[in-house]
Amino acid sequence: MKTIDAYNFKDKKALIRVDFNVPLNDQLEVTDPTRIEAAKPTIIKILEDGGSCILMSHLGRPKDRENEFSLKHIVETASGILGVEVKFVEDCIGPKVAAAVGSLEPGQILILENLRFHAEEEKGDVAFAKELAQWGNIYVNDAFGTAHRAHASTAVIAQFFKDRKCFGYLLASEIINVNKVLSDSQSPVTAIIGGAKVSSKITIIENILDKVDHLIIGGGMAFTFVKAQGGTIGTSLVEDDKQELALDILAMAKEKGVEVHLPVDTIIADSFSNEAKSEIADIYKIPEGWMGLDAGPKTRALFTEVILKSKTILFNGPVGVFEMPNFANGTIEVCKAISEATKNGAFSLVGGGDSVSAVKQFNFGDKVSYVSTGGGAMLEMLEGKTLPGIAAILE
Ligand code: AMP
Repeated sequence: MKTIDAYNFKDKKALIRVDFNVPLNDQLEVTDPTRIEAAKPTIIKILEDGGSCILMSHLGRPKDRENEFSLKHIVETASGILGVEVKFVEDCIGPKVAAAVGSLEPGQILILENLRFHAEEEKGDVAFAKELAQWGNIYVNDAFGTAHRAHASTAVIAQFFKDRKCFGYLLASEIINVNKVLSDSQSPVTAIIGGAKVSSKITIIENILDKVDHLIIGGGMAFTFVKAQGGTIGTSLVEDDKQELALDILAMAKEKGVEVHLPVDTIIADSFSNEAKSEIADIYKIPEGWMGLDAGPKTRALFTEVILKSKTILFNGPVGVFEMPNFANGTIEVCKAISEATKNGAFSLVGGGDSVSAVKQFNFGDKVSYVSTGGGAMLEMLEGKTLPGIAAILE
């Protein structure tokens, strides 16, 4: 895998696709700079080599050139984080950009305006990609958050940089860490798949069944499995049309020698509310009018036991409605078990959507081996798909 370490950037202009799609408040101030911080090591290496950086990103989903989606709003924050004054140009193609790029000196950073102010970006337009490509000598993709998109700046542009393209440190580490689960894993391997729906996780489950020893199924999606096996689930979340699929997954797992661990008990509530009345129930015998919102105590103990004996752990999806404090304890217990296993030498990857928010919310971010930065991109990697942004560098 070719990373920026393959080049000395002295006197080179690096054209870097970053993911600076950060949240802004009503005053158009950056509220979470994590994505800018994540790109810092790549940018610093290039500057320290004696090169300059031209940063390309999108911000939000603009329909037009709307002020609220201008990347000028992130310039001050980026300058503070990178420790270098960041220059900004009001477009990403055209004469103004040519002038700004032309006067860029080694050690300097320039951010181009939101790529999505041009509809050609998301269309993957080749002519637009070629216009962008003229700004740099070497193309660096460090935008994991958009690596699953075949857009002009994320994938199409790479064809104009034959032998002059590489991964930034962030994108490279995402690939290395997901591969620690999918291809270079140490047994026993456990996947904890939770969250709301079976339908949104089915492709991941199918892909990982060949790679794991244990599959823990938790959260809302567990009820479809329980009902399919004859359980009574009250008003719990269920996808009735996926019951057969749930049975197929269980059969497939058995065939492949994967041990499936479903919840055995659950915290039931009389409404979908943090203030609801709650009790512990056998997950196969939930009374009418009640719904399961969290893993019960026996389930937590069962999941913890499996997690603690694992050497490789994937956590994708919470095992309860963790957004409500009264139903967050199952997910917190899972986070605790994962951090304990990690302390004992296991590799743990948290990736894809809400499990990332849960791990951060409960302060376990630095107690697991790796927290992925890309929701959709990580999901697609776990599904076994080839991401266009990655393929374009490898081609
Ligand atoms: P996902 O994005 O598919 O990982 O789903 C995450 C969502 O699943 C979170 O918002 C959780 O609140 C929700 N969830 C987890 N367990 C349950 C449950 N037992 N009932 C309803 N929703 C749940």
